[in-house]
Amino acid sequence: MVATKTGTATVCKLLVNGDWVDSTATEFQDIYNPSTGEIIGRTPLGGNADVDRAVQAAQKAFLEWKEVPIIERARVMFRFKNLMEQHYEEIAQCVTREHGKTLPESRASVQRAIEVVEFACGIPSLMMGESMENIARNVDCETIRHPIGVCAGIAPFNFPAMVPLWMYPIALTCGNSFVLKPSEKVPLTSMMIANLLSEAGLPNGVFNIVHGGKDCVDALLTHPLIKAISFVGSTHIAKYIYTTGTANGKRVQAAGGAKNHIIIMPDADMEQTVQALQASAFGCAGERCMAGSLALPVGDAAEALIPHLVEASAKMKVGPTDGMGSAHPDMGPLVSKEHLDKVRSMINKGEKEGAKVALDGRNIEAAKSSGFFLGPTILDHAKPEMSIVKEEIFGPVLSVVRVDSLDEALAIGRDCPYGNGAVMYTNSGRSAREFKHHFNAGMIGINVGVPAPMAWFPFTGWNSSFYGDLHIQGSEGIQFYTQQKMTMTRWFEPKSSKFQDPIWKPKN
Ligand code: NAD
Repeated sequence: MVATKTGTATVCKLLVNGDWVDSTATEFQDIYNPSTGEIIGRTPLGGNADVDRAVQAAQKAFLEWKEVPIIERARVMFRFKNLMEQHYEEIAQCVTREHGKTLPESRASVQRAIEVVEFACGIPSLMMGESMENIARNVDCETIRHPIGVCAGIAPFNFPAMVPLWMYPIALTCGNSFVLKPSEKVPLTSMMIANLLSEAGLPNGVFNIVHGGKDCVDALLTHPLIKAISFVGSTHIAKYIYTTGTANGKRVQAAGGAKNHIIIMPDADMEQTVQALQASAFGCAGERCMAGSLALPVGDAAEALIPHLVEASAKMKVGPTDGMGSAHPDMGPLVSKEHLDKVRSMINKGEKEGAKVALDGRNIEAAKSSGFFLGPTILDHAKPEMSIVKEEIFGPVLSVVRVDSLDEALAIGRDCPYGNGAVMYTNSGRSAREFKHHFNAGMIGINVGVPAPMAWFPFTGWNSSFYGDLHIQGSEGIQFYTQQKMTMTRWFEPKSSKFQDPIWKPKN
């Protein structure tokens, strides 16, 4: 039983030492089906008591789990991967139900999550240390990677399956135990997947779940037994997590928000670019940290592009996604009424600041329903100083700043405090090279709309899109969840002729 029924809404339970147990929380937050506005569950807003229970269980389990041979740990991941594939559709439906993205988008996100598990299956060879003989005469040296202990993960709302799985398959296979705090807005998918981990044979207590908001996070940040924190969320909170976590002696990787630029050169294939911009700006209703949210058409590119982009985007079908396949909208709702209101107010502000609303998603038909809908919105003729250009919107809103040159586009990128992704559409190798070398962001796409790296590459956000040293995923993920032990060895020649080596005996 992962939830208790109170009235009509079920209250999520915690996973502690392999059991689903009630939280001690007295406050709760509603979980919605964003397509209808209906309440589908309640998240307990736990704090110190819940976190301590989960961390104590994780610490106890860690002491045994770290001694399990790595190949056996990897075998749990192999079984987990198979179970994720068997339950793929169910998981995708859960993501759609609590988050609102379309079913194909949810399926794609579950696929990306499975790829992290596949990567984790290869950790036995990736976690190997280094060694060298004779670093001095008769002295040998080696480094071995050890797990670090109890690790915690704090997740955002926008990818209920994928983002938590960026973290724990790697942490667990490296030999750590884990306490996950899913987003209080979308905790149901994580709970469903946790049951698959147990079914795969993960020992009790190695993976635990707590629920809550700030109090719960603060309890994780300050708990003395937690050694490392992985965070994904907005920049403001990422910075707080990094400063508080490191001040409490923890290793922290904290991925934050973003403002991703898309530069369109006049020589770009405009048909391809229109499709890519639609997918990048409006896919997952713009609730993606790699969403292209600021288009920078260079010179004549604007006239060749914007009218077609507006026309194509106006045809996008926006509607409920919870029909689970009976209807096929191109775009679903936003996650909550609160988030919808925030995005709408940012559009209003952009309009007031002087941007031209080339496509208005505020008054679409679906917006009249009780779901949290907003249509694709394009704000043209924006200026670099406007809030819609400088701030993350995190909704289906594309701002357009028309620029005269690539240098002008690069300068706008240089002034941006974020640094997750940037994309260029062009047919010129020279422009692409200039862009790739100079643009002030950590993930670059050339004719690729959403350059989010696959599981075996790190998620390399720069500037205020990331706080820490070692990024999430890939080889940096393994480094983050392990500590190196160096051993230097020297064996002396036996001094006494009476000494007999117990292994090597000379023949008579
Ligand atoms: P959020 O920062 O509001 O919440 C993230 C987590 O922090 C949640 O688990 C939440 O409970 C917790 N939290 C919220 N307020 C807190 C507080 N005051 N103190 C301590 N903890 C707190 O983010 P969100 O709205 O859930 O997610 C959207 C954000 O996540 C966007 O900014 C998006 O760009 C970012 N994001 C970044 C990446 C990336 O890889 N860089 C990936 C996905 C999402």
